[in-house]
Amino acid sequence: MGENPPKASGVLTGNPFVDWGLSIAAAMAGLESVAFLTDEHLKNVVADGRELELARRHQPLKAFFPVFGPNTPLHNPKGKGQAPGGRHIKNYAALLVRIRDAIGREARDTPCEVCGARRSLDAGQLKDPCGRTPSFGRDWLPLAGAATEANLWPAASRSPHICARCLLAVRLLPSALLLVDGRLTILQSAPPDFADIFVRELYDHVRVREQAGETGTLGSKEGKRAFARRLLSVLNRLRLQQRLGVVDSTTRIFAWYFTNAGDSAEVALEELPNKALLFLRDAVHSGLGPEIERLIAGERKDTESTPGLLRCLEQGRDYDLLYPRGKHPGGSIELFELYQTRILGRTIAALEVAHTIATSLAGTARRREDLNSLRKPEAFRRSELRARVRRAMVQMAAEGRFRLADYRSLFPLREGPGLAVVDDGWKVLRYYVHQPTREEGRQRGEPPAALSDGDPVSFIADRVLDRLLAMRGEEYVRDLMGRAERMVDRWLRDQFLACAWREEGFTYAAWSALALDGHGHFTGREWVFQTRLHLAARLSDDRPRRVLRARRREAATMPMSDSSLPEFVAAALEEYLHEYLIARGPGRLERDIVRPWLARRFGMHWLGERLSSSRRRAPISALAWREWVEAPGGMWRPLQIGLAVCNAARRLVALRSTPGEEPT
Ligand SMILES: [Zn+2]
Repeated sequence: MGENPPKASGVLTGNPFVDWGLSIAAAMAGLESVAFLTDEHLKNVVADGRELELARRHQPLKAFFPVFGPNTPLHNPKGKGQAPGGRHIKNYAALLVRIRDAIGREARDTPCEVCGARRSLDAGQLKDPCGRTPSFGRDWLPLAGAATEANLWPAASRSPHICARCLLAVRLLPSALLLVDGRLTILQSAPPDFADIFVRELYDHVRVREQAGETGTLGSKEGKRAFARRLLSVLNRLRLQQRLGVVDSTTRIFAWYFTNAGDSAEVALEELPNKALLFLRDAVHSGLGPEIERLIAGERKDTESTPGLLRCLEQGRDYDLLYPRGKHPGGSIELFELYQTRILGRTIAALEVAHTIATSLAGTARRREDLNSLRKPEAFRRSELRARVRRAMVQMAAEGRFRLADYRSLFPLREGPGLAVVDDGWKVLRYYVHQPTREEGRQRGEPPAALSDGDPVSFIADRVLDRLLAMRGEEYVRDLMGRAERMVDRWLRDQFLACAWREEGFTYAAWSALALDGHGHFTGREWVFQTRLHLAARLSDDRPRRVLRARRREAATMPMSDSSLPEFVAAALEEYLHEYLIARGPGRLERDIVRPWLARRFGMHWLGERLSSSRRRAPISALAWREWVEAPGGMWRPLQIGLAVCNAARRLVALRSTPGEEPT
């Protein structure tokens, strides 16, 4: 359970059962809001014969038993095989009257532990005609003293001290209860208006069903679907009353799910995410309520593996019924996009680009069969089609219409080593292939997506671009962007290595985090693509250098930091570079070692000879070197060593030179 719902002020008590009952009383009294409920209203609910009517209505309601159990005067005592009848109704009505009459006349000089009223009931005040005195256990107060610690009342080992007003409110519960996932459900909200309106709507609905002779509890066998329907129906009522403003970004709704039956009494408190509520509000506001109801009606049984709308909304998951499949047409474009932006966090720009690309793909399908095959669920698994889409995305990035953050909203990053994405975005493309036209323009106003400051892909791409612009000029870079075939894995690796000689942030640890999966396999193609996309978007700016991220300022603590080299290699390499620097100076270190390495004139063999040379003070074993270089999975050793050479050389030079002087 998270944070507790805030305590309501005024009439309400903060106890969910009592407050729900008070809202029911307000609905029975025909009040606009529970805020106007007085003790007189409450008493009148069970006065002048209305107590008999209430008992008569409650007797057949299935919801009565899970709240109070069968052991109340409304159904017991009775002979074997007998149904409860008129005598039980009279006895129960008399009990309601005894509670009512005790309001304001509580005999015990101890405060009510629920509402804080000065006095509370003495159980003797409710003594029945046979002289039996009740004890306020679970047949009076749901979950009271439940063995599972699910007690929602202040007292645990004894009966709670409670006033007659609170006790009577609880008796009204069966009149407006909903089953969600098989558990009785009541809501609390802050501010309390929403829960109050929810009670009213539910109460009216239960009444209509009672009149039709339906006594089953609302929501039975519906999973969370019943809750979704009720939320929609409450929002729709608010819309008709022009009161949708009751729900805003600060509204909090808590659902208490409970069972009071037998030994398995339990309760769970869950907050309905505000995001989900606002989505439903705005959908209803846009007149999409009936469409959502149609989709819900087409849902399969709502479970974790086949989640219905509300479960998807709560968990921020994709809702399958929005997508066309077979004869199912999917959701309208308005509802689809509302869901994509609000619940899945996709940006408007991402949807526009997906829509544009899909429309153009659909437009180039010359024959009917081509379009049909494009619409098949497996269409976007074809690598040729994916490549076409990716090219189109880079093109739109170059036009300034699409950025890496937008792409990531379509294809979110997957956790774990190696840059990989969740490929849900293809479903969005496929949706738009089915729904190529949109009648109205999209609403603006969604905040533009941004990448986090720590995002390594955009940082590296920015710094690569900064270097290229500085060394080769803008024309060269723009020309390069036009030739995608040159921007491949090898290209990115070379750029990465060259940047390592220039600045911090280009270590083997950083490279492998993006390029290698958990098994050491190369997965860099996604990284290359995202780099291309980001560079294209950067170059859509007139003065790209202005928007690039700055180089990293914090220096590494050690020359071999993040080289991921085994200790014996790291120590030998550092010492070799250090000796060279002392003996020949920084210019020679660059000219004799760094530059040849970057130009691939030197390699592992050359370096191995240097490190194991007998002329060195502490040479490493040539065998150990060879074993390390040739070990299985060692294909990235040259890059690893290259990055270590560049980083360590730069860091050693910086340590010896005056501050501010950096190699270029
Ligand atoms: Zn009370």
